[in-house]
Amino acid sequence: MKGFIVGLVVLAACQSPESSPASAELEILTPPGSDFEGPAFEFERVSEDVYQARGTGNVSVGSNASIVINEEDVLVVDSHVSPAAAAALMRELRLITDKPVKYVVNSHFHFDHAHGNQIYGDDVEIIGHEYTRDMLANGESVSGHTYQTMRLTWVEQAGFAEGQQELAPIPPNRTLSDRMTIYRGGREIQLHFFGRAHTGGDVLVYLPVERVLMTGDMLMARPPYMGDGFPEEWVETLERVKELEFDTILPGHGPPFTDVVWIDRLQEYLRDFWARVGEAHQAGLTSEEAATRVDLSDHGEHYTGITGPGVALAAVERAYALLEGR
Ligand SMILES: [Zn+2]
Repeated sequence: MKGFIVGLVVLAACQSPESSPASAELEILTPPGSDFEGPAFEFERVSEDVYQARGTGNVSVGSNASIVINEEDVLVVDSHVSPAAAAALMRELRLITDKPVKYVVNSHFHFDHAHGNQIYGDDVEIIGHEYTRDMLANGESVSGHTYQTMRLTWVEQAGFAEGQQELAPIPPNRTLSDRMTIYRGGREIQLHFFGRAHTGGDVLVYLPVERVLMTGDMLMARPPYMGDGFPEEWVETLERVKELEFDTILPGHGPPFTDVVWIDRLQEYLRDFWARVGEAHQAGLTSEEAATRVDLSDHGEHYTGITGPGVALAAVERAYALLEGR
């Protein structure tokens, strides 16, 4: 990995009075949950003007963001778990660029990737799949089972509860169904929807020249959350990802990685999950019983968190719903 960490000294840029025209607004943009010590993010450079922003843990930020600095503006992938987290990214971005954010891509509708959208002004294009727009517009990122259950555990993270106080999720103001390409200066930024996977609307952001692929939660070097997923189709969607040529993957959670074998590992995991939950369903087990008994520990060699039988109840309930056509 050729990246390096740059972002551990924070706010120096935005406290300077003449940094950028936007900085005056940014300094006063402190939504509930902004009262924390130290930097919210560290930035890892993975290519010329391409960075991953990862949370430091000083405040709950949810997902990573990916940052693409163009000739005149910036594209950010994912907007984090709260207005406060998104505002923190806007402030701390001044460490690596003075250029304004013009594009925000929501890789999918989940709360930890899209609940910072509201801090961006009308001049910012918030881009997502049509499905992502529907889910956010219908309030699903808040009323859906994912947020309703996960917020109970996330509340232990620093600043999470405060960050939810003035939450008013807004949907993308620009959508795609299959593909979109943005040209900025000399850079080509491709957005792809290859099929349903982690949700019904996962968008990949691909830089063909830099050979960098941003995958949201549909491809990580860890087992994914499957509570809104489509396990069978996900395997096929990943097959299409292999057609792209890339060296570096920036996932929605966890550090960048380069080893494409993680695609095969995830496909195997999803196949086994689907088959074994299917067997449990056919055997008449309740979803609760299946969640304790389905055993994917043969994948523990790669996915180190898996140490014995048992899978997430949300994943089993989702699979049961799909199997029953609900
Ligand atoms: Zn997600």
